[in-house]
Formats: sequence, C-alpha cells, structure tokens
Amino acid sequence: MRIILLGAPGAGKGTVAELLIEKYGIPQISTGDMLRSAVKAGTDLGKQAADFMNRGELVPDALIMGLIENRLQEPDARGGFILDGFPRTIEQADQLAAILTKLGMGLDLVVNLEVPEDVIIRRLTSRRTCSNPNCQAIYNIYTKPSQRDGVCDKCGSPTVQRDDETEAVIKKRLSTYQEKTAPLIGYYERNPAYCSVPSLVAGEVIDAIVQRLNR
Ligand code: AMP
Repeated sequence: MRIILLGAPGAGKGTVAELLIEKYGIPQISTGDMLRSAVKAGTDLGKQAADFMNRGELVPDALIMGLIENRLQEPDARGGFILDGFPRTIEQADQLAAILTKLGMGLDLVVNLEVPEDVIIRRLTSRRTCSNPNCQAIYNIYTKPSQRDGVCDKCGSPTVQRDDETEAVIKKRLSTYQEKTAPLIGYYERNPAYCSVPSLVAGEVIDAIVQRLNR
C-alpha cells in the first residue's frame, strides 16, 4: 500500500498516518520529522535546513530529494509507505514520479485532507511534540493532552512547542503552503488514486480512506 497524504500544515497528516500505520503496518515517511531529527543531531543536512524551517519556508528540493530516494529503498518500505509532508512542490512531485517509475512502484492513494484555516491555526498553536527525536509523539493541550503536563506518555521525555509553531511562523507556513503546495491538488486531481476528504475527525478520515481503498 503506497499512500501520499496531502494537506496544509496542521491538517492532521501525522495523526491520520499514525492510524494508517496501525491498520496497514506500513511505515510513515515524514520529511518534516526526518529534517527535525537532522537538526537535533546537528548533521550537515540539519544545519542547512534549520533556517528555512524556522522561517516557515520550504527546504530546497535538492536537500529533500536525496533523503527521500534513499528512504524509499529501505527494507521496511518494500511493502508500502505513507508519505507525510512530501511532496511539497510540483517539482518534488515530478521527481517522485521519476523515482517511483525507476523503482517499479505505483501509488494506491493520494488523499487530500481538507481543513479550514482557522481550525488549523488553533490546532497548531495548541500542539505539543515529544522532544525525543526517536519518539516525536504529538499531543494537543485541548484535545489530546499527555497524562502528565509537559511529559510524553510514550517515552517520558519533555513535550515542547516546536520553534515553527508560533503564530507568526504558522501564518508564513500557511502562505508557503498556498503558494507552493496547494497546486499539487490540481496536479494529482486527475490521477485515479486521488481523493479529497474533510479532516475534522481523524477516525472519519480513516473510514473514508479504507472505503476508498476497498472500492
Ligand atoms: P512539517 O512537519 O511536514 O510541516 O515540516 C516542517 C518544516 O520542514 C516545513 O515547514 C519545511 O520547512 C520543512 N519541510 C518538510 N517537508 C518538506 C519538503 N517535502 N520540502 C521542503 N521542505 C520541507
């Protein structure tokens, strides 16, 4: 099962991916998580990516494409994957298509998660993320709080507000999304694997996805 999750930052891609992992046992490939781990680890990639991320801009395609091409060839991705936060530009989508052709892989589903912008801003400013790069569990102070305030339920590390989840940076990320990523909807719309679902309740998104895959 090979799935692309499209949608603005805060549309619920990470939460939907978690539910799909449980259901299908395939890995989530999140370029955002991979970049944040690289920033934490202080690698060359992390150093090059950090400023773009903290400004709410996209990291250059050249840095992203190598990362993805290698990741798609790891053994756990043989049975499928969930792409979360990639592709983010038409250029990335074109390059992804070339990589998939080269690897002899097709796409089963490209799903666009639809959420109004005011909901997104509320969701992102109330989000807390586990600071352990190997965990990165996501909480929400209103809808999914950790059992102990500020402490991850899964690994006990502190939960934090991401540097790029302040209101100013979120607004910039949303305008970057409108300019660079939203055009992907037109790009994939005519692909038979494409569908778009309202993303207010994660469980309902999963039901819609499963229904669509069983069609
Ligand atoms: P995310 O957690 O997916 O919202 O990603 C956080 C940040 O990482 C984004 O605001 C970008 O700066 C960067 N990023 C993540 N994925 C990509 C991508 N596919 N292309 C370019 N930049 C990305």
